[in-house]
Amino acid sequence: MNKNVHQDLSYSGFCQTCNKTHSLPSEKAIAYCYDLMAQLRAHCSIALFDQKENTDLRLTTANLYSSQGGEMFGILVCEDANGNEVILRAFSSTHNGLWNIEGWVPHLVSENDFMQIVEKGNLKIHPLTNLIQTLEKNSDDWKLKVEERKSVSRKIHAELFELYEVTNFKKEKRSLADAFTNKNGIPNGTGDCCAPKLLNYAAINNLKPISIAEFYWGRTSPSGDKIEGKFYSSCTDKCQPLLGFMMCGIKDL
Ligand SMILES: [Zn+2]
Ligand SMILES: [Zn+2]
Repeated sequence: MNKNVHQDLSYSGFCQTCNKTHSLPSEKAIAYCYDLMAQLRAHCSIALFDQKENTDLRLTTANLYSSQGGEMFGILVCEDANGNEVILRAFSSTHNGLWNIEGWVPHLVSENDFMQIVEKGNLKIHPLTNLIQTLEKNSDDWKLKVEERKSVSRKIHAELFELYEVTNFKKEKRSLADAFTNKNGIPNGTGDCCAPKLLNYAAINNLKPISIAEFYWGRTSPSGDKIEGKFYSSCTDKCQPLLGFMMCGIKDL
């Protein structure tokens, strides 16, 4: 493997407590990612190891080649308290509607809590949408109801974000809003990428992160910026503003 190929990868974030950037190297994790890619290629499934007999069709990677597009996968190489290497794996967001799958680190929030808020929100959003459709476009009433729907939707998103809590390596816990360094607002999907899932799991399970890498798997994105088997740095809009807090304390372990 040519190391220079991955020289531009960066998994880091600015920590406002330490007033500096925390980061992790990628080299070790990249090697494990290549193993995972070989497995995905051979089995066309994200069932791992002893689960290869698992026949749940939702575990297949077929959908990643549909118009829905591919997924990011990530690996965090860690050390436990006895110095043993522990490999953590994550897929971004959900896989074919599955939130948690054996062998992969769990989602940051409970699916049940999340869906309850979404369903409760839909009970407010759907009648408004139906009403808006009956109103004359751009009339005063229409504008009023469109604004009302926006405000309801903002409230639902705020409630969803409140479910997320991230822990760093000093065992400090923060809400997404408090951990996020970009105060212009938290984009949808923040906390659902591989890096936050992996780091949070390591922090609460007393594992010391050594190396991290993320790659894309599935059909090339329409814009061509996501290619199967290629490694990508943590995203600038959702992850980098979180990683400063989340990586804090790793060096002192
Ligand atoms: Zn991200
Ligand atoms: Zn720090």
